[in-house]
Amino acid sequence: MADKLNAVKGMNDILPGSVTRKDKLPDSQLWLWFENTLRSVLGHYGYQYMLTPIVEPTALFVRGLGEVTDIVEKEMYSFTDSMNGDKLTLRPEATAGIVRAMVEHNALYNGPLRLWTIGPMFRHERPQKGRYRQFNQLDVEALGFAGPDVDAELILMARRLWKALGLVEGEHVRLELNSLGQPAERAAHRAALVAYFEAHTEQLDEDSRRRLLTNPLRILDSKNPSMQELIEAAPQLMSFLGEETLAHFNAVRAVLDEAGLAYRINTRLVRGMDYYNLTVFEWVTDQLGSQGTVCGGGRYDGLFEQLGGKPTPAVGFGLGVERLLLLIDTLGVPVPSAAPHVYAVVPDPTLSPKVQVALEALRSAGVAVQMHAGGGSLKSQFKKADASGACFALIFGGDELARGEVTVKSLRDGAGAQVARALTDVADWATTLQSPASSNV
Ligand code: ATP
Ligand code: MG
Repeated sequence: MADKLNAVKGMNDILPGSVTRKDKLPDSQLWLWFENTLRSVLGHYGYQYMLTPIVEPTALFVRGLGEVTDIVEKEMYSFTDSMNGDKLTLRPEATAGIVRAMVEHNALYNGPLRLWTIGPMFRHERPQKGRYRQFNQLDVEALGFAGPDVDAELILMARRLWKALGLVEGEHVRLELNSLGQPAERAAHRAALVAYFEAHTEQLDEDSRRRLLTNPLRILDSKNPSMQELIEAAPQLMSFLGEETLAHFNAVRAVLDEAGLAYRINTRLVRGMDYYNLTVFEWVTDQLGSQGTVCGGGRYDGLFEQLGGKPTPAVGFGLGVERLLLLIDTLGVPVPSAAPHVYAVVPDPTLSPKVQVALEALRSAGVAVQMHAGGGSLKSQFKKADASGACFALIFGGDELARGEVTVKSLRDGAGAQVARALTDVADWATTLQSPASSNV
């Protein structure tokens, strides 16, 4: 036998729940339910779907995200196209590609757009629970709106999504909010920060001394316990924010307050990409250990220009699908079943032509039927029927079929009870059973 091949480390298969696996990754039913739910929620706000390529020019991310961000410095899957020497990268996030597409197609010519996309992102990180090398993001962007109204709308929309998914805001997920101000305010803060840390270089570790020259703001993220006191006392961006910035921030807060959405102002919240300004926010949970951010976003009014477009205000968020579904799994939130209405037991495989025509008629009438394929004993067929999650088995015996009937056997309440029903009645009856694809939006 040839050697087995395995998936690339940190890149996962998403499989049906009936497959037993060692890792705790969400199953495909949970995945589908999430996608159906978010489609419905986003549709209620007028967000439109779009797709961008998974591979983009490396320069897009270097220019878009910033040269000294974690992602660009050490997490990108970059390669040279051996056919033509182009420098390419597997997208580590979605926003830069969406903005590239907007500029390329002059897509905002007719006015602002609300957009969303979902798909795989790639970052070379140490794989662990909630952190993978290929992971999926829902990405939502409001482009051409200066806010602050639309900033708040995005946050309210995320709240609606939590509710539709059975998560309790404030308990399972909490909102953290901050303002990063405008570039000039950030520059003034940065200068004050550099002066402050330069006056205390003897207390900085080696990493932070290096960062003082490249990205002093990131010293604030240091986990080194011996530096915490120094960091606590460092100049805060909040005290450098001007009137307009504060007005924007307060207007976002006013909507959230009126809507009864509780949040914590976290002045340390900076986010990982350089493109953010004004509003930034994260939805966090305590249930997933250190991978606690399920959704993060903010305003990035400078990115269009940075990528060769006209100045265009923009705001959006990215949501980690695996992380969110792990949370739903951890909390044991009830997920609608994917079970068919009925399972068709076929005692005599030679009757397959007639049985399948009868099943097609049932499906045309709206019944979800899973057919037993491959024959086998009645006992083994009923075992499969049970495992399918259906509440009823339909037994297609030859005599009944000839009379236009089928035997209905209950698999759940009062299991074992059997009644003969006319095939023409079965559709009416079966579609009153719980819909297999139902969702609670
Ligand atoms: P973190 O601080 O956890 O590294 P981040 O700030 O790098 O997150 P973003 O770039 O803002 O994350 O991406 C948005 C969301 O995508 C995150 O909040 C998280 O839910 C998810 N995410 C980011 N990186 C990964 C990863 N390697 N594996 C799984 N999900 C991820
Ligand atoms: Mg990260």
